[in-house]
Amino acid sequence: MITFEEALTIVQNAVFYEVNSENVPLDKSLNRVLAQDVFSDINLPPFNKSAMDGYACREEDIFEELEVLEVISAGKPPSKIVGPKQCAKIMTGAMMPEGADCVLKVEETEEVSEGFIRFTGKQTKSNFVEFAHDVKEGDLVLKKGTIIKPQHFAVAATVGLTEPRVFKKIRVGVISTGDELVEPQDKPKLSQIRNSNAYQLIGQLLKMNVTPYYFGIARDNEESTSRIISKAMNESDVILLSGGVSMGDFDFIPKILNQLGVDIKFKTIAIQPGKPTVFGVLKDKFVFGLPGNPVSSFNIFELLAKPLIYRLMGHSYEPALIRIPMGMDYTRKKSSRKSFIPIKVEDAKVWPIDYHGSAHINALSDAFGIISIPVGISELKEGELVDVRQL
Ligand code: AMP
Ligand code: MG
Repeated sequence: MITFEEALTIVQNAVFYEVNSENVPLDKSLNRVLAQDVFSDINLPPFNKSAMDGYACREEDIFEELEVLEVISAGKPPSKIVGPKQCAKIMTGAMMPEGADCVLKVEETEEVSEGFIRFTGKQTKSNFVEFAHDVKEGDLVLKKGTIIKPQHFAVAATVGLTEPRVFKKIRVGVISTGDELVEPQDKPKLSQIRNSNAYQLIGQLLKMNVTPYYFGIARDNEESTSRIISKAMNESDVILLSGGVSMGDFDFIPKILNQLGVDIKFKTIAIQPGKPTVFGVLKDKFVFGLPGNPVSSFNIFELLAKPLIYRLMGHSYEPALIRIPMGMDYTRKKSSRKSFIPIKVEDAKVWPIDYHGSAHINALSDAFGIISIPVGISELKEGELVDVRQL
């Protein structure tokens, strides 16, 4: 059995290509992955820019009575040079007049007489941002592989990028397996349960801005399961199957994948929950056989499928980890597998959620994140710092 770390390396190294890219209007690019480096076509600020509403003057004159030459508003270039004992009234964002090297805040000035002001403060900062202080023309302002967020819209707009090049959306197929499953709209009969995994996976994909393609429930016979997997294989870049990967009589997903020519990279991982996890590659397509239980399926998606899908989309995903102390002692009986535990955060401390096993459907409902306990460790002490993977 391989370790989690080995499994993650196998999954990440399996991706040897990036999907194609396309240009989309800026307002359609939210949460897409940028497929180009973006360089600024201008200097920012493009001129010495006042950071305050006030009076632009020469620093050596700040304790003099100053003559107000003109009013400079944002968007209107100054028309006069500021000389000794002179100033220009200036607005935030307006261009500094020649000759001036500081801006007196309007709150720290008073009018002495019509057209003359005086500084009432003790000292002043320069209160303007120098030409090209933030960005120089030609500077890299957005990196290829960035997931585009609203703050990136601002950068793109500033450098005139109206149609960013982004990676094309990938197709991820979702299949549930099991004779016991009925869809959510149906009332389960004796010995049946509702299919929850497919919808959880669909939600996890949507959260990543990936469009899911749902292929329905494959029943527990080789022929129908094989048919549905083949169809999904033809139509998807990645397939997420759930169930049918443990040791039962009807758990024949690995066998079917083999028959379809999939190169199976691993079938079990030393983690808890999620031990029976299949990962395989067929040419440029990837298949995950996720465990049937919902908490396990959720975990494996987060831990392994997500990094693979992001990598295909051109983004190297690193989970956001936050270090927080344990609020209580936590012990486990066995330590031969790396375990992942859902947790809450309260009073800035980590509290493991009491869950009854990987079928406990609402165990994750209030979870803030998950923590992991490495192989060989069976105890976490109150106050010990742990890395929380935020969900
Ligand atoms: P299996 O690996 O197919 O034996 O499934 C393990 C457990 O997960 C069984 O109790 C299944 O009923 C359950 N399970 C499998 N698929 C789903 C699903 N799509 N939704 C909810 N539970 C499932
Ligand atoms: Mg099953």
